[in-house]
Amino acid sequence: MRPCPCCEAEVTEPLLSTRPVPVQTAVLVKSLADSLAVPRRPIVLQHCPNCGFLWNTAFEAGLVRYDSDYEGTQAHSPVFRSYLSGLARQWLGALPQTPMRVVEAGCGQGEFLAELSHLSAAELQGFDPAYRGEGQARVTIEACELPDGDASADMVVNRMTLEHVFPPLPLLAAQASWLSRMGILFTQVPNAAHMLAAKLPGDLVYEHCNYFTARSLWHLLVRAGLAPQGLSIGYGDQHLTMSSAREGQAMAIPGRIPAGIVEAFASEMTQFGPRWGSLLAAERRAGRTPWIWGSGSRAVAFAAALPDPSVVAGAIDINPVRAGTYVPGSTWCTQPPETLKAGRSLTVVAMNPIYRTEIADRLAKLNCDAKLLAVGETSLAAAAPLGPFIGPGEI
Ligand SMILES: [Zn+2]
Repeated sequence: MRPCPCCEAEVTEPLLSTRPVPVQTAVLVKSLADSLAVPRRPIVLQHCPNCGFLWNTAFEAGLVRYDSDYEGTQAHSPVFRSYLSGLARQWLGALPQTPMRVVEAGCGQGEFLAELSHLSAAELQGFDPAYRGEGQARVTIEACELPDGDASADMVVNRMTLEHVFPPLPLLAAQASWLSRMGILFTQVPNAAHMLAAKLPGDLVYEHCNYFTARSLWHLLVRAGLAPQGLSIGYGDQHLTMSSAREGQAMAIPGRIPAGIVEAFASEMTQFGPRWGSLLAAERRAGRTPWIWGSGSRAVAFAAALPDPSVVAGAIDINPVRAGTYVPGSTWCTQPPETLKAGRSLTVVAMNPIYRTEIADRLAKLNCDAKLLAVGETSLAAAAPLGPFIGPGEI
């Protein structure tokens, strides 16, 4: 029996098992040999019907490294930078008082703290073992895991971290220990309900051992001794954020995800790779050259899912740190956008549809003849990148 790590329901069920996928998806791999040597393991997902939580029961934390070769930033994209800036404004605006101290767990290279530094005079402190020490004005970052706190932070930021740690409760408890009496914890994770509803198998990556719905996150926050107070779904429905505090009334528990979408997602898992494989092979036969745009974790999942990844010429990424590195587990070398300059008969597949307009603009500026496709393209709310916080009882 595997009780749910979020809501403690005793009845949970196995959902799916993938074929072996690379265990490192955001690491900078500098040679083809190293890329092909990245270990592979299957993802074995367990599902909690009560709260919707999904987790990889075969996850081996020791296989995943978060050192200075870990490259998780999307901050080279104007779309993402604008989103991050809006997020900083929204979260600061949701605090009951002007913050004196802000702490971020898993802050990466400090891009969010840097946004806050333009908007707030608070002391800004971050922790991340992958920090490379590039330095940010007015921000102190230590290259280590979050230690236990001293209840002094008015704002604790937990952005895209909790999905990496199993079990998730101790990390959440460590974050709660930093909260002052009036302090607010903002917990942001990938939105599993969107992954399931939009059928996005590429969002299933080895480093993410946990997949949260609003209901599962609510349960986990309550178990960490916190009162969940607000919920926001943003970034084209891809991000789920909950605010919580040590005191105050908890918001109503979010509803369950619609029946059937978990099973539909599991079925899509088996069809996704072969379908894209046939589509890209047909593009090749028609004389076009497929490239993918975005060399992060979704690219790794995409390469691992294709029956024959050699149908793709390579990966494009706007992050200059990634140029010349390989999409882990594949033969795809990452190139800067200028590689496609004046290219003819190209088919470009965006790994994240939220960047479609940005990529189309870039291709036009490079004078490319390119057909642009996107993985998981649905009628995303691209015009509304950030949902408002919803008050108690309005879920
Ligand atoms: Zn549960």
